[in-house]
Amino acid sequence: MKKLFIAGNWKSNKTNAESQLWVKDLATKLSDVAADLSNTPVVVCVPFTSLSVIRYALGAAHVSLALGAQNVSKFDEGAYTGEVSAKMVKEVADWVIIGHSERRKYFNETDEDLAIKAQKAKDAGLKVIYCVPDDKTPVPEGVEVVGYEPVWAIGTGKTDSPENASAVVSSIKAKTKVATVIYGGSVTGDNVATFVSQSAIDGVFPGGASLDPEKFSHLIHAALAATK
Ligand code: PEP
Repeated sequence: MKKLFIAGNWKSNKTNAESQLWVKDLATKLSDVAADLSNTPVVVCVPFTSLSVIRYALGAAHVSLALGAQNVSKFDEGAYTGEVSAKMVKEVADWVIIGHSERRKYFNETDEDLAIKAQKAKDAGLKVIYCVPDDKTPVPEGVEVVGYEPVWAIGTGKTDSPENASAVVSSIKAKTKVATVIYGGSVTGDNVATFVSQSAIDGVFPGGASLDPEKFSHLIHAALAATK
């Protein structure tokens, strides 16, 4: 069985009450694949405000999901109003997304900013999912997972072809020496099998399809079935 890595990105969605319901509902829907999930890291990356609530809900529901933030400050703690430092994130999560295209586009985060963030995350003991739109964008050393996410495929319902995604993923692996490279861009339960059955692609990075427990569970089940 291929070892998959699945990361869901909620973006800026869900109140605390909605977050708790999501965990409860998903835990029930994944109970039949609990054994498979012990070998398949599934990370849910949520807004800062949901991190603590989800952490406790996951413990109570006994569901084997890891927790990630979606951003981290490039500064240590101190006089940086509105920022959340890597040390603060590490208290409640093990993973962090750095370099998502929405951060690059709407918040003007540059490769230089992102390299600093990756270093801060690493220093704090966080594991990094580093997003790139292609195989030419620099990837800082020491990141655990790279997410290849073509910008035009994010939230559009259009996906890269599995063959092209596989070629780009292989090229990223060759250039960066990162062993785990996943594909993101309109992945759903209906198309996930086409991506994970490409040998180079180590997993997927759904945004929209991670918000609804029914859709996320369908995606996880389909990915597991395709790689058995
Ligand atoms: C994303 O948030 O990184 C993403 C790929 O979103 P979606 O699956 O909705 O395209």
